[in-house]
Amino acid sequence: MQSSLIEKEKKFLFQVYKRQPVVIVEGRGAVVKDVDGNEYIDCVAGIAVNNVGHCHPEVVEGICRQARRLMHVSNLYYTEPQIELAEKIAEISGMEKIFFCNSGTEAVEAALKLARRASGKKNFIAAEGSFHGRTLGSLSVTSKKEYKDPFKPLISGISFVPFNDADAIRKKMDGDTAAVILEPIQVESGGIRLPKSEYLKEVREICEEKEAFLILDEVQTGFGRTGRWFAKDHYDVDPDIICIAKGMGGGFPIGAMAAKGISFERGEHASTFGGNPLACAAALSSISVIEKENLLERSEKMGEYFMKKLNSLNFDFLREVRGKGLLIGVEVSVQCDRIVDGMRKRGILINCISENVLRFVPPLVIERRQIDEVVENLKIVFEEVNQT
Ligand SMILES: *Cc1c(COP(=O)(O)O)cnc(C)c1O
Repeated sequence: MQSSLIEKEKKFLFQVYKRQPVVIVEGRGAVVKDVDGNEYIDCVAGIAVNNVGHCHPEVVEGICRQARRLMHVSNLYYTEPQIELAEKIAEISGMEKIFFCNSGTEAVEAALKLARRASGKKNFIAAEGSFHGRTLGSLSVTSKKEYKDPFKPLISGISFVPFNDADAIRKKMDGDTAAVILEPIQVESGGIRLPKSEYLKEVREICEEKEAFLILDEVQTGFGRTGRWFAKDHYDVDPDIICIAKGMGGGFPIGAMAAKGISFERGEHASTFGGNPLACAAALSSISVIEKENLLERSEKMGEYFMKKLNSLNFDFLREVRGKGLLIGVEVSVQCDRIVDGMRKRGILINCISENVLRFVPPLVIERRQIDEVVENLKIVFEEVNQT
């Protein structure tokens, strides 16, 4: 069953993804099941998307209720879920105005456009090791050459500086810098890199001095992933613009750009699907679950527990365990593909970023015993690697 589907995928889909050989058909909480009935503890969670767990009944019900009533009209009209969700996002993010879109990269596009429009300036400063998406604008502020080079020319006026070095940003700033764009915690090419405690605050101050905007890309770090609503909440930093998506809709595609003190004018940006009632209903239900089930606190506690257990593993090739809440990276000095394969064969899904960092981003509803099971199995797989 799996192999015939996989063959068909090869025939009909662009081979842009490096996929694990599993066809997943069901999910519940932190567990998914494949077509052959095998179960897996899911430490990928759709890449930090399924924060409330797979198919959370309240999110399923919210989507079904809305689907029966109204799925889509157009932003030519007002709809209740969109307005209600905007108010909710403003409340939890401390931002003032929201633009809805459908993905992370679109949220970044909106942010770049807004920053240029509102500042009247052209240039951006981004960090080495950054990831902001795959469309041409967001790709321009992404650092990885392999992602960018085949698609040049991208937008001009982008400088890259080392992450965690506020002085480097100060030096690069000029009268034409529209904004600095950063992930509060670098999640992709950076391999889960945490900011130094004062870094983001210092960048904020530099931006104020030089009248440039600060854009924080919270696409992966939002909605409780790090133990707060947003990673910025750990660091006492007050951005002008944030980009959000992944965990927002509980598995349903939706993204947004939220800003404070700046605005688009009528007609300057738009999206057909952005903020459609169905997506907004999913996001409203998902946020409601995060609140009711205290998932922020849970993410923080379970994250600490998980990291403590990971840190108790003692292997020469285990270089570092780092993270915040349930956004955890385990850096190893061996190729991590083998570890990913070994874990999958033992019923656990993880993935690997930048060749040698294993990423653990399970649903925030993951239970202690499931974390125990993950770490026990990781230990066994590490032992296997150690023997060869
Ligand atoms: C995933 C991600 C994006 C891109 O989001 P898409 O929905 O895949 O377009 C942008 N920035 C960060 C930090 C991300 O993790």
